[in-house]
This record gives sequence, C-alpha cells and structure tokens, in this order.
Amino acid sequence: MIRKIFATAFLIALIAGAVWLADNQGNVSLIWLGYEIQTSVAVLLGAASIVFVILALGLYFLLTLAHFPLHWRDRHRLKRQQQGIDYAGKALLALASQQGDLAESFAKKAHGLLSEHSLTLLLQAQAAQLQQNTAATTRFYTEMTKRPETTALGMRGLITNARKTNDTNTTQKLITDFYYAHPENVWATENFVQEIVKQKNWDAAEQAITNTLTKKILPRAVAQQALQGVLLEKSRLLSGSEALALLERAFNLDKKNIPTVIEFAHALLPTQEARARTLLYKTWKKNPHPALATAFQASVEMLEPFAAYKHIKYFTAPHVKNINSLLLLAAAEFSLGILGRATDFAEKSLKITPNRTAYTLLQKMAEQGNKPKNITEKYALEAQQAAPLHDWTCHACGNHPVTWHAVCDSCDGFMTTS
Ligand SMILES: [Zn+2]
Repeated sequence: MIRKIFATAFLIALIAGAVWLADNQGNVSLIWLGYEIQTSVAVLLGAASIVFVILALGLYFLLTLAHFPLHWRDRHRLKRQQQGIDYAGKALLALASQQGDLAESFAKKAHGLLSEHSLTLLLQAQAAQLQQNTAATTRFYTEMTKRPETTALGMRGLITNARKTNDTNTTQKLITDFYYAHPENVWATENFVQEIVKQKNWDAAEQAITNTLTKKILPRAVAQQALQGVLLEKSRLLSGSEALALLERAFNLDKKNIPTVIEFAHALLPTQEARARTLLYKTWKKNPHPALATAFQASVEMLEPFAAYKHIKYFTAPHVKNINSLLLLAAAEFSLGILGRATDFAEKSLKITPNRTAYTLLQKMAEQGNKPKNITEKYALEAQQAAPLHDWTCHACGNHPVTWHAVCDSCDGFMTTS
C-alpha cells in the first residue's frame, strides 16, 4: 500500500516536472573536450537518464557475473547433499536386511558426499559391526565420541564393543568415563551402577543412585529399590546400631520391599522382638511372600514349642490356605507332637504342589510313629525327587539363592532377585 502511494506520488511529480519543463524549456550551453553543445534542459535531462540506465544495467550485469560461481557452488553442494542422503537411506536399508558389505559401501559413499554429517559415521560403524570388523567399528565410534551431538552414541557403541570382546578392563573404564562425563545420561547411569555393584563398591553405588534420585534421572521407584539393595548390602558389612540405622533408612524408602523388611526385622529381633515379628506379619498380610514365612519361622525358633505355635497360628491366619502357611503349621504341630494335624497340613500342601519340605516332614513323622519301613522309604524317595520350594528367584538367570543379595551371584544381575 505504502509502495503504491509512493509510486503514484513519484509519477505525479514526474508528470508535473515534464509539464513544467515543457513550459520552461530554457537553453543549456556546454563546452566539453573542445566541443560546444547547445541544447534544451529537457534533452539534457533525457540524455542523463539514458546514461544512468545504461550504467545501472552494466552494474547489474557485472554483479550477476560475480555471483555466478556462488550460485553454481550452492547448486552443486545441494546436489551432493541429496545424493549423500540417498546413499545414507540405501545404507540404512542394507543394514536392516543384514547386508553388511552393501551397507558399508553405501555408508562410505554417503560419508564422502556428506563428510560433515554424523549420521554417516553411525552408519559406517553399524555396517562395520555387522561385518564383525571390530577395529573399524572402534574407529568409527571413537570418531563419533569427538562430536558433541554423537558422543553418547559413540560411547555406547564402544562399550558394547568392549563387552562383546569380553574386555572387562576397557568396559569398566569406558563406562566410568562415560558416567562421570554425562551423569545425567540414563544409559550411562544404569551401566555405571551395574558395573560398580558387581565390584561390590557400595559407597560409589549409593552416591550414584542418590544422585539419580535427586536429579530424577531414573524412575523414582526403580532408584529407591536400587538404593534399598545397596543399603542392605552395606548393612551386612556393619553390625549393631550402625547396621540397624542403615536398614531403617532402607525400610523408610519403601516399607513394602520384602528383602528390606526381612533384613530389618532380622536386625531388630535381638532387641525388639515384638516389633520384628509385627513387621513381618504386617508385610505378609499384604503380600504372602514365601521368604517372609521362612523369616517368621526363624524368628520363633528359639521359643518354646507352644509359644512358637501360637505365633505361627497368628501369622498364618490371614493366608491359611497358602502353601507356606500350611507348611509352617505342619512343622509347628509336629513340634508339639500332634502328628495327625501335622500330617493333614503337610498333605494339604502336597495337593497344591509336590514339595520336598512336606515329604521330609512326612518321612520324619512316619519314623517317629514307627510306621512300616516301606512308608518311610517311600517318603524319603519322594522328598528326594520333589522340587524344593524357593524363597528367592533371579528373574534374569533362574538362580535360587538361599539368601537374598542385591547382585545375583550367578549372573551378576543387579536387583534381579525377588
Ligand atoms: Zn541371576
């Protein structure tokens, strides 16, 4: 709009000027290089305008000529970029179809065309990995670690590589370096914790996990559980009030965590017997975990059989049909010498699942009741063949440890046992 107003105003001024010049033609006399030129003002202005237009056109032509290589370079670069992206796409497809050599060739071409692009490094590394060329893979991943946008990917690649070649020292060093350079990275944190707990470095583990909790790097529940595991392991290296204080801290993080409850109750037992049993009972009421039944049974072992029986009766009441309840009751009745009821409970448990504990108890009762030898032998054989009931299972490797540990002693999995 403003442009239009200016154009109209300029046109009006031009017409007014032309009209005024026509009315006031006047004469101009010039002497230049020995020539005398006589003309009107209008003609002189016209001539000046033509010279101005010629000069402007000349200048425009010169500028276009000067810019031509620039435009050509831009077009050339764009074309190379497009080709590079095409090759990168082809490399990706080759990777997806597990064609390592083809992926390598395409990735190399893409890298040649897009030399500044981090993507081509990753493609080359992946292609080298597919071909199990460790030296080349390491070279590409190392190159990636030098670029801020691909540092994390490069480090992950190098760590995975070191792990594949079972190079423990390099793996540990890379993980530690990566974690301290990027403590906010979830993958770095998880792997660092995994590595230091394997070395039983509980102090460093506690520090790292506390950091993830404060900075909300890992989900709260996961970090809390990991911290509980570490505190529990730390408490095992201490004794008395020091151990108890650590376990209380762990317990307060999540009061439903079974290993923590058991360990805390165990530490409380010598001084706060009633509190220890209440803790086990309350947790069992909500979650009848077999390890709680074992822990409760251990907590009444030093009592007189009848006192122990009363505690067991109270403990098992919320889950009276649970196999662990049946076995606890069978053992308690057996201790009291009430063999008939003990047998009933043991047999009920066998209906749920054949188990070594029940058969062993039945064998003992048969022996005590002076039953024929073939019956005791039958129970002994069945006890041998039946699977034992487990308190703990590592979900990563299927290991059944007798005592819970934060790190599985079979597969080194951290917090994989429950
Ligand atoms: Zn395991």
